[in-house]
Amino acid sequence: MAADSGFDRTVPVLDRLLASLRRCRRSLPDQRRGLNTTYDMADFALAGFAPFFMQSPSFLAHQRHLQTGQGRSNCQTLFGPRKIPGDSQIRAKLDAIDPALFHPMFAAVVAELDRCGGLDAMRCLDGHVLIALDGTEFHCSDKIHCANCSQRKRGKDKIEYFHAMLAATVVATGHNRVVPLEPEFVVPRDGHDKQDCESRAARRWLEAHGARYARFQPVHLGDDLFSRQSICQAVLGTGGHFLFVRKPESHKAIEEFRAGIKLDERIDRIRSGKNWISRRYQWLSGVPPRGDEKAMTVNWPSIEITDAGGKMTYRNSFITDLEVSRENVAARAASGRARWKIENETFNVLKTKGYNLEHNFGHGKQHLATVLAILNLLAFACHTVCELADTAWRAARRELVTRQGFLQSPRIITTYLVFPSWDELLGTLAFTRPPPLGP
Ligand SMILES: [Zn+2]
Repeated sequence: MAADSGFDRTVPVLDRLLASLRRCRRSLPDQRRGLNTTYDMADFALAGFAPFFMQSPSFLAHQRHLQTGQGRSNCQTLFGPRKIPGDSQIRAKLDAIDPALFHPMFAAVVAELDRCGGLDAMRCLDGHVLIALDGTEFHCSDKIHCANCSQRKRGKDKIEYFHAMLAATVVATGHNRVVPLEPEFVVPRDGHDKQDCESRAARRWLEAHGARYARFQPVHLGDDLFSRQSICQAVLGTGGHFLFVRKPESHKAIEEFRAGIKLDERIDRIRSGKNWISRRYQWLSGVPPRGDEKAMTVNWPSIEITDAGGKMTYRNSFITDLEVSRENVAARAASGRARWKIENETFNVLKTKGYNLEHNFGHGKQHLATVLAILNLLAFACHTVCELADTAWRAARRELVTRQGFLQSPRIITTYLVFPSWDELLGTLAFTRPPPLGP
């Protein structure tokens, strides 16, 4: 199949991305015994991925229907499984897979993004890539749970089960695209609180992936939870930079250090509609974030926004290893604030805009909940890369305006018609090709 030819420039972006998911089969464990092997293990991964990519929990059911009526289906022509496995088979096979085995597909996503110039378009602060780190929960339930669920007490004697992950997402100022990278799942361990779990997950993420992303000169963003010295040093150890939110109450040493010092200051007055608002920046360099002898030194920029009436509407401060000056303090603060995009543009979209991150497609006994979460993140990442890099996708998207509206169209049209390829499907949506004849 052409899609297996790796980075052949004549192969459309989406086919190359799906080929990378198909290649994960080499590492997928096949627990079946004997010769009666009807399905390739990659078929289960592709069949698990397809409903997320099509944003349709009933995609496979519709395709089985087409398969019966027309002898083939879009699941086969667009995603590649030779046969569509049953739902219970998919659940059972994916449950046994370590989610980390899908990591190579994130590398393929980043490679495509790099190739198409999408990553360069997202660079900030003179060539850095911003990677926002943040924790989120999914699959909260007081009934359904698995061996890898975290749990907490609710009320007197209720237990709530949930999964949590540290998401790493490429974000940019002045750019609404976000690209998820490999997540780090929080696995329950006795005796650690939520904050501890998230900061440990951040250090595991940096250890596993930080050095690989060093070539993008990453600046890691995160909330106050990440602004402890151990994580700052872990970031520097991977060759990256940090720009973490820092609340005054969690860094008394900085408050004490800056007391009595006249801070550098810059005030910008900016027009906002009919009114003028003012942005006041202050900064200090070479500050110890904690009080002991082994404290490292960091730079501390802060921002305060006041409205036309002089009322403060926003205030935040950060710690960073990047140099802060009168010229760059506004850009540093703007990048620090881009962290909110992981909440807004990623978690919010994944949970409410068709990706159904929290819907219960299945939970499993071991890894199913996390495997489905990772396939969902990959679907989101592939959509973003296609929007940036795939000409056929962009042409179809131009005709169908919004992201959600656009993603609905393939879902509906593939319920009735079988398309021989993505190019044919996208060509039909862009009105450059007639749809295939129905049965
Ligand atoms: Zn679970």
